Amino acid sequence: MTQERDIVVIGAGLTGLATAFNLRKKGRDVLVLEKQNRVGGQIHTFTEEGFTFESGPNTGVVSFPEVAELFQDLKGRCDLETARESSKRRLIWKGDKFHALPSGPVSAVTTPLFTLKDKFRILGEPWRQKGTNPNESVGALAQRRLGRSFFEYAVDPFVSGVYAGDPMKLTTRFALPKLYHLEANYGSFVRGAIAKRKEPKTDRDRLVTKKVFSARGGLQKMVDALAQDADIVTGTQQIKVQPREDHTWRVTYNNGCEEVICRHVVTTVGAYALPDLLPFIPRTLMDPISSLYYAPVIQVCVGIRDSHGLNYPAFGGLIPSKEQKQLLGILFPSECFVQRAPVGGALYSYFMGGARHADYLQKSDDEIREMVIDAFHSLLKYPKTMEPDMIRIFRHEHAIPQYGEDSGTRFEAIACVEQQYPGLILAGNMCDGIGMGNRIHQAAMVANKL
Ligand SMILES: Cc1cc2nc3c(=O)[nH]c(=O)nc-3n(C[C@H](O)[C@H](O)[C@H](O)COP(=O)(O)OP(=O)(O)OC[C@H]3O[C@@H](n4cnc5c(N)ncnc54)[C@H](O)[C@@H]3O)c2cc1C
Repeated sequence: MTQERDIVVIGAGLTGLATAFNLRKKGRDVLVLEKQNRVGGQIHTFTEEGFTFESGPNTGVVSFPEVAELFQDLKGRCDLETARESSKRRLIWKGDKFHALPSGPVSAVTTPLFTLKDKFRILGEPWRQKGTNPNESVGALAQRRLGRSFFEYAVDPFVSGVYAGDPMKLTTRFALPKLYHLEANYGSFVRGAIAKRKEPKTDRDRLVTKKVFSARGGLQKMVDALAQDADIVTGTQQIKVQPREDHTWRVTYNNGCEEVICRHVVTTVGAYALPDLLPFIPRTLMDPISSLYYAPVIQVCVGIRDSHGLNYPAFGGLIPSKEQKQLLGILFPSECFVQRAPVGGALYSYFMGGARHADYLQKSDDEIREMVIDAFHSLLKYPKTMEPDMIRIFRHEHAIPQYGEDSGTRFEAIACVEQQYPGLILAGNMCDGIGMGNRIHQAAMVANKL
């Protein structure tokens, strides 16, 4: 069957659904094609045995006005839920327990996380010389400006938590562009942050709160709300895109049995899926894009029905690589949001693997379960007599793209493809940021561009 459409979006993850939503708001005709039999991509919420848990992302940050605007648009279909105040506390493992990351001048002085030398050293940060290497890694930049202990006990675990990555391999200007620009534009993180705070703000700028968000009932509610009323075909097999001589596009699927002729195609799939989808793009252009490395991640959701009052009023605990534990960190979703665990119980999300332990993906369920139970006692300090009531394991082979030194070449190749093939847009988290806030922002940019 052949149909004619204005725009085809490929992939019904957050990027694809938000792009289609924004385009429909502008009155455009959009068809979304998705390989899986469900929508949401990496976002997937489960409710089982009284626990509500995520297999992919748990929280986003209101880091762009578009995030607040999207939830405004979705009102009545899905409710934004911001994390409880207590979850502003972030914990870092050192020695034999979690310590709170300093949140004010007193805790900054007393914290055992950083050395006394580095605590004094940080006072000189505003006057430290600017770096000269545009491709400096996050790890090298942090050590140069903040000192080794700040790198080991703040930046390294932060990078594990966000990128599941190796801070020595992520390039600051691509992976953490806001941080890079603070030094590049203001000469210092501290001076830059102060100057930014003083800059005049529009009402729209003030929508950016940096608050941690989910949706009431889990993030699946957000993607389901985006998908409501959208024209989506799920379970599509073998999608192929081909340019036509009249500058339109031919998209076929289900082994060529279905055909769509359209003016624009937006891809939101992972970089590794592009060569198959866009076979007409020469390898010299495609290789720098499709070679993007994604760190694998295992997320294990652990529930306990009665935590016997053992609570962690915090967002979660991160584990510096120096501490040589098998986990990257543990999130405490039931401390952040309502109704994630039965009353009196608790829900935890353990993260393992990442770029530095990609081999963990091969571990069997039994091995993972053993690691989880060990951490339940040794890290979360539950007595040996207690065991979790629920353990669910989720493996993500292509979890988080790593924005390393090759990112510049990749971004250029993406721009080159879009220039050579007008009407084709390559979106998704291979560019413009990895977080859900970035995805919602990119979706708005793509819709405006079209
Ligand atoms: C374990 C984990 C934890 C995370 N934690 C956080 C977090 O706490 N905070 C945060 O902000 N971000 C987090 N992220 C990142 C965030 O989830 C992603 O950036 C975001 O969900 C990506 O959305 P997307 O639509 O770009 O891609 P995806 O969700 O991957 O969607 C792409 C879609 O395309 C489909 N597809 C693929 N190939 C084809 C094809 N050939 N034809 C048709 N369809 C195809 C896929 O099935 C999928 O539905 C996490 C990611 C993972 C994996």
